[in-house]
Amino acid sequence: MNQRSYLDYNATAPLRPEVREAVADALGHAGNPSSVHAEGRAARAAVEEARGQVASLAGARPEDVIFTSGGTEANVTVLAEPAADESWQLYFSAIEHPSVLSGGRFHPETTTMIPVTADGVADLAVLAKTLEKHKPGGRRPLVSLMAANNETGAIQPVREAADIVHEAGGLLHSDAVQAAGRIPLDMTSLGTDMLTLSAHKIGGPKGVGTLVLKDGVRVEPLIKGGGQEGRRRAGTENVPGIVGFGVAAALAAKELADVGALAALRDQLEEGVRAVAADAVIVSASAPRLPNTSCIAVPGVKAETLVIGLDLAGIAVSAGSACSSGKVEVSHVLEAMGLSPEIAGGAVRVSLGFGTKNDDIKRYVSAFGELIKRLKRNAKEAA
Ligand code: PLP
Repeated sequence: MNQRSYLDYNATAPLRPEVREAVADALGHAGNPSSVHAEGRAARAAVEEARGQVASLAGARPEDVIFTSGGTEANVTVLAEPAADESWQLYFSAIEHPSVLSGGRFHPETTTMIPVTADGVADLAVLAKTLEKHKPGGRRPLVSLMAANNETGAIQPVREAADIVHEAGGLLHSDAVQAAGRIPLDMTSLGTDMLTLSAHKIGGPKGVGTLVLKDGVRVEPLIKGGGQEGRRRAGTENVPGIVGFGVAAALAAKELADVGALAALRDQLEEGVRAVAADAVIVSASAPRLPNTSCIAVPGVKAETLVIGLDLAGIAVSAGSACSSGKVEVSHVLEAMGLSPEIAGGAVRVSLGFGTKNDDIKRYVSAFGELIKRLKRNAKEAA
């Protein structure tokens, strides 16, 4: 294959070479981490080292980290009534990942959606009002607000939400899958009671993630039938996956010092796009955004056309939400922001990461410019 530029880190990041090596080594562990013999203890030590590395990325204690099969499982696990002797109401923002929008184990009647502003930021005034209204009803609020959105990169006001939620006697969960390694995360300063992370968005293996529970917070296990993970998630641990997650977390934490360089590449890309398409819309441009994400639409140009054209030019990007079904549907995120169908249907997500170089940005701007020119010319000829 000719040289390619992979600019779809929010869908998944490439596996880091250091992770590949650590996973290959860990595949050699003969023992089960629950076994008491030397082989078992070696596997346990590898899992516990990774637990420390992941805890450190989240600003949490190692014992608060529960390894899962990924971000989806962590989200679905946490969306259950935290205390069986109390009744709860689940609140989530309209731009959450589908695994949160599913409501987990809550009945649809006990879930409430919180809208976002036109910038794609959760409307905390509505959250505060809604929680106030529910107070007399006696249901305790469990609120799920992502740390940053996967499509627009808009950073959400998690700290401010925590104050509102705690004032109302509730608990706050944050899906920080996209924020990890891109902005600093610290559960204590963010005020979150529960946090979700996924390994493959930070250069770790696919199929492993974590749910982090603050000291004292309990969740009914989703997968029962064994004492692993402090009886909070049954099943023999995915030792190679967990080890890879740990290495990726340690590297991602180190790279936080360099995210300014990533933001500079993102800005260079957006400037280049504006230079070749003055009418291009950068979604959530006025909100605080992740340094690696750019969601761009050109009026009159369909996202699928751009994604296919860019792919042929050697560039991997996504149309709106990564379409797990293979079909491109209008993104619920862009719809919730009230964007016109023309803009929402044209939005392409470009997401950068640790492997992105200046040349990738140049290639993107040049291919994008060519494509837009050709599409506009074709449209004119057809008119
Ligand atoms: N949450 C967000 C914000 C995501 O972007 C994703 C992945 O696309 C997930 C959760 C799901 O994580 P996983 O792929 O590990 O199940």
